Amino acid sequence: MEREVRVRFAPSPTGPLHIGGVRTALYNYLLARKLGGKMLLRIEDTDQNRFVPGAEQYIMDSLRWCGIEIDEGIEQGGPHAPYRQSERKPMYRQYADQLIRDGYAYYAFDTPEELDAMRARLTAAKVPNPQYNSITRTQMRNSLTLPETEVQQLLDAGAPYVIRLKVPRKEEVRFNDLIRGWVVVHSSSIDDKVLMKSDGMPTYHLANIVDDHLMEITHVIRGEEWLPSAPLHVLLYRYLGWESTMPQFAHLPLLLKPDGTGKLSKRDGDKLGFPVFPLEFHGTDAETGQPTVSSGYRESGYLPEAFINFLAFLGWNPGTQQEIFSMDELIEAFSIERVSKSPARFDQNKVRWYNEQYLRAKPDAELAQYLLEALSKQGIGNVPADKAEQIAGLVKERATFPADLAKEAQLFFQRPTGYDEQVISKKWNAQVAGALAAFAQELPAAADTTPDGIKALLTQVVEGQGMKLGQVLQALRVAVTGAAAGPDLMAIMSILGPQETAQRIQAAVEQLAGSAA
Ligand code: GLU
Repeated sequence: MEREVRVRFAPSPTGPLHIGGVRTALYNYLLARKLGGKMLLRIEDTDQNRFVPGAEQYIMDSLRWCGIEIDEGIEQGGPHAPYRQSERKPMYRQYADQLIRDGYAYYAFDTPEELDAMRARLTAAKVPNPQYNSITRTQMRNSLTLPETEVQQLLDAGAPYVIRLKVPRKEEVRFNDLIRGWVVVHSSSIDDKVLMKSDGMPTYHLANIVDDHLMEITHVIRGEEWLPSAPLHVLLYRYLGWESTMPQFAHLPLLLKPDGTGKLSKRDGDKLGFPVFPLEFHGTDAETGQPTVSSGYRESGYLPEAFINFLAFLGWNPGTQQEIFSMDELIEAFSIERVSKSPARFDQNKVRWYNEQYLRAKPDAELAQYLLEALSKQGIGNVPADKAEQIAGLVKERATFPADLAKEAQLFFQRPTGYDEQVISKKWNAQVAGALAAFAQELPAAADTTPDGIKALLTQVVEGQGMKLGQVLQALRVAVTGAAAGPDLMAIMSILGPQETAQRIQAAVEQLAGSAA
């Protein structure tokens, strides 16, 4: 029988979730939903020294904002609870003991000083990468070198020890990565990793493998930085007798800085001019202890759908021209085979572009709601809903973020406080002013105040003065809005209404009387 697909996102709560982590969670989620499987959230908090308060909540809030739904996890519970590794501590020991019994792991009693001395010795002998491994272990104090009675004495006396994996000296470790194909690593390059620390806590490697096995994980989809650990994990599955149900591995490509010069890291914070975190994060500076704030996509005005659509394309593509995908469409289109091996470069313009597309696709009524809230915060109240809707529909073409709607809408609530000088010096003259004044006179009695109706009236008045529409349009825009550019002018005048538009034109004509070119 086919196994149910079960994937997990397994972050360590050592800080805010970085966008690379969100992408990992997303790909896991897409695969789980595509294949009708389950998505787990497991908190890997065995390294208590690196624990950051609030990080766990941050991770869950971020996933929720992104629309990545968790089926089993610390909030949801599930058949394999608990889903927080620190609460699973008693479960790991037996597997370390099993490995020792079967000859795949051993006790190591070396003190920190002895380990330092070993590294210094190897460095002096010009060994490039000093490690505790199949060669060096023979000179150290462990249960492979010490007589059995002494080992027992040390254990009975409560001497501190760690449990290390006994990595074979000469063996090829291979596995088939779903993205990279066959990965072959020689065991001589793998060190005897610590599986159990002296405080009785498992290390990441042991806890991760034990949990993936117990939680019946079928696919391990994670960042490329874990690729070097994968051969060790394959050995662990083998030595624990779990090779037949070993998950399939898929190591995702790196995310690079926009200029391609290196990995996009948490430390880039706001230095590159865009957020690297989904939500704003309030932390503490490790050196100064001062509170820090890192910006987030949510607070910067990004829509979660746009952010997710953008992230999906950082390392994956559907093989077609289509770029806009809802979550459901992503689920439908996603496949691990189409995830690229090569690193993906972060593109700030692209994420903005996505936001624009999603913002503009929203119903005007929804944007109007946002606009009304923003305006009322500025003390602009009493804006009728239909007017707000018209304004939102008009200005959204010029907006990247919801906040831009309110900025662009200002012209409807504020008369010009000045007039674009370049346009005035080039386009304003007595003839133009005369035509505009005539138009302002006619406007209040206009029968048709739709954009088309206003345009027809304007054309008629301007041509009646022996001029062409093109000669007055820019001057008219500046008279009505003060600015040289903006949304469709006829639509602006239609929304402002004939009275207000006429008054603005008259005011401009009076104020600019001396400025005729
Ligand atoms: N706890 C690891 C992390 O923080 C999980 C790596 C994995 O998925 O195996 O990324």
